[in-house]
Amino acid sequence: MKVLLQNLTKIFPSRNKKDKGAEVIAVNDFNLEIPDGKLVGLLGPSGCGKSTTLYMISGLQSPTSGKIFFGDDDVTKLTPENRGIGLVFQNYALYPHLTVQQNILFPLQNLKGENRLSKEEMLKRAHEVAKLVQIDEYMNRKPAELSGGQQQRVAIARALVKMPRILLLDEPLSNLDARLRLQTREEIRRIQRDTQITTIFVTHDQEEAMSISDYIVVMKLGVIMQTGKPQWVYDDPANLFVAKFLGTPPINLFSGKVENGKLYIGDEQVLDTNGVEDQEVYVGIRPEGFVIDKTGKLTCSISGIDVMGRDVSVVSTNSNSLNPVVRSIIASEEMSNISGNTVKFNLKENKVFIFNKETESRVYFGEQLKAHEAMVAEMEEEGQSYVTHHGSLPREADDVHKEFEVEEKKGVIDKIKGLFSKKKKDAEIKDEAPVPAVDEVKTSTAEEKDEAPKEEPAAADEKNEAFPVDEVNASPKDSANSKPTVKKKTTVTVVAKKSSNNSSKIKSTTANATSVNITSTTAKKPNEVKKIDSEG
Ligand code: ADP
Ligand code: MG
Repeated sequence: MKVLLQNLTKIFPSRNKKDKGAEVIAVNDFNLEIPDGKLVGLLGPSGCGKSTTLYMISGLQSPTSGKIFFGDDDVTKLTPENRGIGLVFQNYALYPHLTVQQNILFPLQNLKGENRLSKEEMLKRAHEVAKLVQIDEYMNRKPAELSGGQQQRVAIARALVKMPRILLLDEPLSNLDARLRLQTREEIRRIQRDTQITTIFVTHDQEEAMSISDYIVVMKLGVIMQTGKPQWVYDDPANLFVAKFLGTPPINLFSGKVENGKLYIGDEQVLDTNGVEDQEVYVGIRPEGFVIDKTGKLTCSISGIDVMGRDVSVVSTNSNSLNPVVRSIIASEEMSNISGNTVKFNLKENKVFIFNKETESRVYFGEQLKAHEAMVAEMEEEGQSYVTHHGSLPREADDVHKEFEVEEKKGVIDKIKGLFSKKKKDAEIKDEAPVPAVDEVKTSTAEEKDEAPKEEPAAADEKNEAFPVDEVNASPKDSANSKPTVKKKTTVTVVAKKSSNNSSKIKSTTANATSVNITSTTAKKPNEVKKIDSEG
């Protein structure tokens, strides 16, 4: 099932108490087509609007403006349970008192009317999906007797059992340790291929998104910065933000300029940029874009060398580098060209990206434009439109600043422990000081950032949207922030909005409450919940 987002926008009142009346544009005029049967990764730093986009697709949040289509159906006004979606959150939160089988059966037991299944049919379905996610051996266990990865697989089975048209996953791997994360993401990929369900996968982890997605959508501040196949976006970033966001080790940035058709880093003329107007630029060079050459154009001082099997990582410094160190990955044969502490590099033209310093959008040179046009044409052949945002967004300067702070931290750690030391050593250093290990800085920073909003009091959405219990696999309080919380024994908590002047806007007799708990022995359909709600 194809998903089409048309001018989708979501505006929240600001949570910043000092700034009453301000608004947060969480999702800003989103236009996106998610092709049938594909897995699309929504990728971006914490707070860029990934979850909000997903919740609008699911129906848990309603857009401020814009439309959502599943195939030809306009679903913008449909309730979540009428959209035919399966939803999986970071926090898999299974019903702890139910067995795996009962957990998976749960959504089926609440089907009404003509959708109702016989007991045998339900069991058959539950076993089919359990098999699909390879959890069928554990049907009689309780969640506490399973590993995190297994629990998340149960959550996925539960999302799949109703045969959703669209599968929505919000950071589903974030609570798993590194090994399980890798394994589970391969599982998700396999399940998606087997079932061919159109899947939207939200993550802040670029490696995760790159490895799992058919297409990625890189977002920043609610705006699509670029869409495309992961490799294309990596090879052909449309703007500085995307270039920086993708890649491990990250892209090396330099301050440079184009003058008379030549690209300069400092006084050194590093590449020909015939036809490009004179301008100040950021020069981004991928770590694999350097070639050691005695007559090379870019001169750096070596600060460390690390042999990684076939390749060698050369860490060096250059006064025009915007990062504390320049990280290059070099074939070991080239190492014989190094003598002394200075290293000279030639640059691979297709691994060097330049960005106008003011707009931060890409400036193509040499053969790059042709390569870019070929990619766009190929993408169009696949029925994908090429979406990019050319140019900088507000707060970009802040982001750059923050990232450089992290880089600086990284530089200090490098010094302490020696460059690119073994994982074991990383762990030791991590124990001593709460600084992340070098190659984990990016991820853990993102995770830290990701935690931050959760500490804020949960602000509620403008609607007291009731929750289809059977659609939800996790306590959404940490993911939807604002959403009614599903608890065990099918307690539905409806959280009312606290508006900026602190008066609650919840309807009817519960006007002063900020939270209403409705407990019942069976799951309530949203309209039933609303009814109870309004009857107080
Ligand atoms: P992501 O999932 O990419 O981390 P979110 O979609 O959760 O980002 O949030 C996007 C922006 O909208 C953030 O600035 C966030 O603080 C804000 N936001 C999200 N939900 C609410 C809400 N219920 N009320 C106010 N602001 C919100
Ligand atoms: Mg989120």
